[in-house]
Amino acid sequence: MDIGFFEHIISQIAQGLGKLVFLHILGDPLVLKNLSSYLKIIKQYNLRAHIVNSGKFLHTQDFHTLLFAPVREIAFSLSAFVDNPRGFRDSYLQEILEFCSFSRKVKSEVFIHLRLQDYLLDASAPLLKEIAEFFGVADSRALRENLRLDYKTFFTITKHYEWNAKSPVQSNQFRLGKKPYCYGLIKQFGILSNGVVVPCCIDCFGEIALGDAHIQELRAILDSPKARSIKSYFKEGKALLPQCQKCGYVKVLR
Ligand code: SF4
Repeated sequence: MDIGFFEHIISQIAQGLGKLVFLHILGDPLVLKNLSSYLKIIKQYNLRAHIVNSGKFLHTQDFHTLLFAPVREIAFSLSAFVDNPRGFRDSYLQEILEFCSFSRKVKSEVFIHLRLQDYLLDASAPLLKEIAEFFGVADSRALRENLRLDYKTFFTITKHYEWNAKSPVQSNQFRLGKKPYCYGLIKQFGILSNGVVVPCCIDCFGEIALGDAHIQELRAILDSPKARSIKSYFKEGKALLPQCQKCGYVKVLR
């Protein structure tokens, strides 16, 4: 996303639309050589940043920049190490572990999550062994569950789900207690790099386009009849749109 446009968006978010900026929809934010400029803008507007990345581009970044405000949390998605071993060398994992050491050394308060999807646990024995040895975990089988590895550093298992609404229609009503169907537009919304506003990060292709932040104010987009209808359906435990009725992520929410 163009940095001028990014600041235009952040300045609007800072006016009461949110507090946390997740620097991704799909893709790896560490691929940006000028990531620190984006972080500087987030800091300037008193917001905090969450970063999810693969670890592949960690060596291109200054560790210090990633371990202090405005960054609040950095998550490494380890699934690619197992899913795509050819594209992910052992040295990338080493780099992540060095990053964890550096965090401890500089007394960073940033949360670090080493994330792995549940369906990859069985295929990840060597990876888990290396992580366990590094953090002094006696038995790598302890990493079959979420585990605190160090101060503010965690091993986290995430549930696998069908990306981008490819599951068969499950229900347009999915109420559990008073929980909404989904937190899209209630606690989160997304902005694609082309400015299209979407309700969540699942919608990475803009199938549920709510407006264009290049030509409309964010508040007006989020207050549009379409956005309001989606949100009020969710609050009643229902899904208005077919994409949401088929969404695999909703199962994970439960
Ligand atoms: S139900 Fe799925 S597709 Fe719809 S807003 Fe929620 S996460 Fe996004």
